[in-house]
Amino acid sequence: MLDQVGPTPFLDTLWSWTQAITNERGLTPVRKHVTTMTARLTAHLPWICEQDWVVDFAEEIGDLVRATPRITMTEPRRELLKGVTCPSCGMTALVRHFPGDWAAECRNCPSVKLDDRYYEALVKTQAERAHDAVNT
Ligand SMILES: [Zn+2]
Repeated sequence: MLDQVGPTPFLDTLWSWTQAITNERGLTPVRKHVTTMTARLTAHLPWICEQDWVVDFAEEIGDLVRATPRITMTEPRRELLKGVTCPSCGMTALVRHFPGDWAAECRNCPSVKLDDRYYEALVKTQAERAHDAVNT
């Protein structure tokens, strides 16, 4: 399972810390929801940092933070941009990286790095050219 960090699922780790703080501080319980739990933990961070178990807390929350990119699919990925060709090599080789600094980069040409404006202009130009080719 993707949402497993070691033997303890993501939400259960947040939940056990949230409950510990709620019980120890005599607070009104919150719902078992990521937003409410993280809000509670964040609000009580100064107090948490004064507790003996802060090292365990930091370790377990750190594991969750490290696991988050896998769960949210924010790991680096690359998408091929179809229907548009590289202005340099003319191949369908333009890709976009997530996360990335450019709207498009060419797999073949290291110097081809297009920003949003350039990329959109390129898409438009090539679409018009294709349209003209069909109508002539
Ligand atoms: Zn190229």
